[in-house]
Amino acid sequence: MAQPHRAEAAGSDCDVLIVGAGPTGLALAAELHRFGVMPRVVDAATDRVHESRALGVQPRTLEVLRPLGVHTELLARGNSAARLRITAGGRVASTPLFDIGADDTAFPFLLFLSQAETEAVLGEHLAEAGVVLDRGVAFESFTQDGDGRLRCSLLGPGGDREELRARWLVGCDGARSTVRHSASIPFRGGRYPQTFLLADLSADGLETGAVNTYLGAEGPLFLFPLEHPAPWRLITARPAANTGPVTLAELQQQADRATGGAVTVRDPVWTSAFRIQHRAAARYRSGRVLLAGDAAHVHSPAGAQGMNTGIQDAVNLGWKLALVCRGAAPDALLDSYDQERRPVGEYVLRFTDRAFSAVTSANPVLRAVRSQVVPRVLPVALRFRQGRAAVFRVVSQLGIRYRRSPAVDASKRRGRGPRPGDRLPDARVLCSGTEVWLQQALAGPRFSLLLCGPGGSWDDAAVQDLRRRFEPFLAIHRLTPADQPDGAGGVPVLVDVSGAASSRLRASGGSLLLVRPDGHIGHRADDGDLSGAERYLARWLAGVAGPAPS
Ligand SMILES: Cc1cc2nc3c(=O)[nH]c(=O)nc-3n(C[C@H](O)[C@H](O)[C@H](O)COP(=O)(O)OP(=O)(O)OC[C@H]3O[C@@H](n4cnc5c(N)ncnc54)[C@H](O)[C@@H]3O)c2cc1C
Repeated sequence: MAQPHRAEAAGSDCDVLIVGAGPTGLALAAELHRFGVMPRVVDAATDRVHESRALGVQPRTLEVLRPLGVHTELLARGNSAARLRITAGGRVASTPLFDIGADDTAFPFLLFLSQAETEAVLGEHLAEAGVVLDRGVAFESFTQDGDGRLRCSLLGPGGDREELRARWLVGCDGARSTVRHSASIPFRGGRYPQTFLLADLSADGLETGAVNTYLGAEGPLFLFPLEHPAPWRLITARPAANTGPVTLAELQQQADRATGGAVTVRDPVWTSAFRIQHRAAARYRSGRVLLAGDAAHVHSPAGAQGMNTGIQDAVNLGWKLALVCRGAAPDALLDSYDQERRPVGEYVLRFTDRAFSAVTSANPVLRAVRSQVVPRVLPVALRFRQGRAAVFRVVSQLGIRYRRSPAVDASKRRGRGPRPGDRLPDARVLCSGTEVWLQQALAGPRFSLLLCGPGGSWDDAAVQDLRRRFEPFLAIHRLTPADQPDGAGGVPVLVDVSGAASSRLRASGGSLLLVRPDGHIGHRADDGDLSGAERYLARWLAGVAGPAPS
């Protein structure tokens, strides 16, 4: 990778100002750096968070963070083998959490890891990459200059003010986002009436390594397995009458209510009582201002979606913003960030809202269902692998797709198999004799064109022309059956030994998939015709496209 691109003007100008160094801001900074753009990152807090907050890293998040190389450290620090143990009405059901045979991902599990650890790993990655986090520096407001740049006012730790000119401003500054306020972007929604108790603590009487869940008429109590900063995270609804600071006695009282005295809690290292909001920003982009993470959407923690959605906003935005900053892509590519990620944020809001209402509602019918129907039905329901698999697809975020986005080609394709806008499914393939994941083989700060079929399926001269025209933002690979490896034209070959890759892609000789830098398919053809891929690249890499051969 070449040296990161910096703003051309001297002084305190920068290409991208990221406000907020939570998981979203850290992931965005890492993605921009990976694509050769050095951002300026400021955070009002003088230190990173040390409490657990979000505690589940979803499979899709691990996939999109893998190109940074941080997934190994995340896996080493977390627990990927948690079980689900549900106690309801005196009955106990226990099942592996994600044991549903999802073989099209390297990460078929929910990784339990506290947000503090996830942020630490991302922070260490940035430090190694030389990206500085300016802590203790608060963003105050911005105005727009005549040349379109943003004049941003920052307040430093000693009360000193700095004026910074930025081409792009990204608000990763959480639910109360000052960037969002400054850009006058509405944040619609409200607050749930209930207050919740959270505590990171030790406990006795639990199944080790399992999500211990107690369901009852009064609502659920969860104890999630953590390593840091304490062995367990407790979460439950707080009775309306309790209003003071959270005490160990109150936590024990709630544990007794839910578990009938089976669980003893002790040694809390962090407690919190909070009300949950459900709100969404009306726009994720307003001119040169963009929003990501909690600044754009906040919802209930049901399903462990919050931090994950924020990190995936960052990954969706990172490559687009970097290509625009580097003059490779047109500004219109950034509109697709709002068009792709806002529907995802809104969907997460709806789905977490339903899950949240089902387990907390005071409605007498739902209370009766929770206390009398669920205990009987749940142990049977958990045995159905297909049902668990469907839930897994949604919760794991592997099913997210952007089929209606302007940044993917519309497809007339019918039947099964991934279409433009879908995530590229993963499979093991051989690359230079070594077994690797397909997604990993294609990962890089560029688009990847995957040409399927045995030797002779493709016009080598046309393939080379295409590569030359879009260098350095296009890599080309061949996916060949096991018995016909062919490296003609210098295009690296991936050997589909088991046939799993071709089968998951529903690809045959003459299929081509153009994969975006975020692992979503931008264009697909199954008739050996390269012209659609050429048109797609000429549109979105207009700034680098070399002349078409005459
Ligand atoms: C108590 C609690 C428990 C939670 N539990 C869960 C859970 O179990 N599961 C789950 O998925 N999610 C949970 N969440 C939500 C999850 O923590 C968030 O979704 C996640 O932190 C969002 O990341 P972010 O980077 O978008 O925003 P944040 O993590 O909020 O980071 C925003 C950053 O911006 C900085 N900032 C703010 N204003 C400014 C400014 N003006 N100038 C400079 N910097 C600024 C802040 O200091 C902060 O570091 C919980 C949240 C809370 C508060």
